[in-house]
Amino acid sequence: LSTLKIAIGAMELIKKSVKDVMTDIDDVFMLSEDQVLNAETMTKISDSGYTRIPVYEGNNRNKVKNLLYVTDLALIGKDNNITVKAVAGFNKRRLRIVDENMPVLALMDEFKMGEYHLAMVAKAHDVKKHHHGKFVDDKMDNFIMKSMKLVEATMLPEAPEDHAITLVGLITLEDITEELLQAE
Ligand code: ATP
Ligand code: ATP
Repeated sequence: LSTLKIAIGAMELIKKSVKDVMTDIDDVFMLSEDQVLNAETMTKISDSGYTRIPVYEGNNRNKVKNLLYVTDLALIGKDNNITVKAVAGFNKRRLRIVDENMPVLALMDEFKMGEYHLAMVAKAHDVKKHHHGKFVDDKMDNFIMKSMKLVEATMLPEAPEDHAITLVGLITLEDITEELLQAE
């Protein structure tokens, strides 16, 4: 892989927003907080191959409040029939929700800070509406400016509570680095 390819990948990335590289919500493996961590659920988790699993409230897949880390399951006995809620609630993993139009580079800057490497993606403006209007207008042409503004505008890390947002995907650091290394 040549340096030039990476440079081209980086330049391509400037133009992209989160929705261009995310995993579509229909393909996201999630669990309801009400699900019991029995042998069947454990097998499903193991078969999914994912290490971080979004956890939603009741049966509303838009209400993702939490993440379950597979490593959190290490201490649970198989026959305990403990719920997802109990484990996810105990470990309280931080969950970031971003707008689908957020520039990928802005999110990469956040990921670089190292506290989390996964975010849920919400439909455009849903995040804005519920974050006290600090979000920058989408119509700015200058991508770099936009990225920088968004970095400072989206430093509100908590998931919006009790608001109707529509989740459209999930994005991890790997989705971004993959994009970087994929340039032809
Ligand atoms: P790790 O590499 O840390 O073991 P992982 O394999 O679970 O974690 P990543 O490597 O970050 O996840 O991501 C690989 C791909 O899987 C990415 O495209 C990402 O969007 C996707 N992905 C991650 N978690 C999930 C999930 N719970 N459901 C569906 N797709 C996911
Ligand atoms: P993620 O990055 O997938 O969100 P994570 O925090 O579980 O999840 P990493 O990002 O791979 O895992 O690691 C975070 C930091 O912790 C890195 O600096 C890594 O080197 C360090 N780390 C991970 N596992 C260990 C370990 N077993 N011993 C010491 N340091 C570790």
